[in-house]
Amino acid sequence: MTSTPATHRIGFVSLGCPKATVDSEHILTQLRAEGYAISPSYDEADLVVINTCGFIDDAIDESLEAIDEALHENGKVIVTGCLGAKGDIVRQHFPNVLAVTGPHATHEVMEAVHEHLPPQHDPFIDLVPAQGIRLTPRHYAYLKISEGCNHRCTFCIIPDLRGDLVSRPVNEVLGEAERLVAAGVKELLVISQDTSAYGIDVRYRTEFWNGMPVKTRMTELCSALGSLGVWVRLHYVYPYPHVDEIIPLMADGKLLPYLDIPFQHASPRILKAMNRPAASAKSLQRIHEWRAICPELTLRSTFIVGFPGETEEDFEQLLDFLEQARLDRVGCFPYSAVEGARANQLPDPVDEDTKQERLQRFMEKQAVISSEKLSARIGSRQRVLVDAVGESGTVARSAADAPEIDGLVYIEEPSDAQPGDFLDVRIVATDEHDMWGSLSGQP
Ligand code: SF4
Repeated sequence: MTSTPATHRIGFVSLGCPKATVDSEHILTQLRAEGYAISPSYDEADLVVINTCGFIDDAIDESLEAIDEALHENGKVIVTGCLGAKGDIVRQHFPNVLAVTGPHATHEVMEAVHEHLPPQHDPFIDLVPAQGIRLTPRHYAYLKISEGCNHRCTFCIIPDLRGDLVSRPVNEVLGEAERLVAAGVKELLVISQDTSAYGIDVRYRTEFWNGMPVKTRMTELCSALGSLGVWVRLHYVYPYPHVDEIIPLMADGKLLPYLDIPFQHASPRILKAMNRPAASAKSLQRIHEWRAICPELTLRSTFIVGFPGETEEDFEQLLDFLEQARLDRVGCFPYSAVEGARANQLPDPVDEDTKQERLQRFMEKQAVISSEKLSARIGSRQRVLVDAVGESGTVARSAADAPEIDGLVYIEEPSDAQPGDFLDVRIVATDEHDMWGSLSGQP
């Protein structure tokens, strides 16, 4: 038996949104592919990589605290992610970090790792699973289809951090999806900054997947993903006209009847000030048309209240929109200035008390709508995907519930289900967020 050199061990801290999680997975996969071990503690690590978030002040603080802790506990730290792209902020706070890169920078991170811990050729590199290293549970996975964004919303600095839209080739995305499904993934969560814009940058180039031509375009991608036999959920979709093409796929059961559309506001004046690519009147019409084709459709959205210049009249337009759109799942945030965003220069900022008061009125209205929509499901049969099993029962999600952001389905009866199993349940109770299901009376 030949001896091998001691394996270098890397500590890894992953912060931020699902897009950052996917970046972390790519870096971890590359680290393992090159024979580095992943250390669960600072003590045992030879160095630590921190994937940061730099979107809002709280996220910046959390990232800076994580860097501080890793420097204190370990001393050798490489910083990557959105905070790394924000000028010199990391170096100003911590001049002794080993390297700083922006987001989506696997190559640069690996170069920094190589500089401080040269790779050792390890015969076990082929032990890296084909689907790569993932941070999500085994039964669901994020599938990132593009990076960057061509829009310039005035409150957002993502295009400054991540650049313009760059779509991944559709054959590469579908190949990754197939490997994930082969590894046991039951739910694919399609993410990007703007899923409907997929392929615009490459003029919808045709690639070949399993010998078949497929365009780099949302409809064709969705149709191919729908053939893999697992749940496919779409996030960050803007209501461009071609979104209409995927609603029949949802009605046919090829995609989950679920759309995550960040509307952000409904007043045309505020949408213009935000530089958003949508107008509320058309959005309402589209929603009605989609629901006519696919009545099961769940709509999730996010909104900002208290954007600079928002008057009481603008805000009431937003409440009217909520009333008419009757969205299923809604997140709402009071406007908070992001360093470097153009919206900071807009006149007529809304004072904090008014922002909080509008937030409360918004949430009260939506809470009634969400609980009415959920209670309408009582008595229905739902297919659910099991996330966890414990002594007090089974925790699952329906087609209407994306992991971590939406509600859950609790099943209190004993069952031998495992995470990743599908169950058919009858909904027996609901509240504003969650549902309770029963296995009894299964066909
Ligand atoms: S669509 Fe607007 S909010 Fe979303 S990433 Fe692009 S610029 Fe930012």
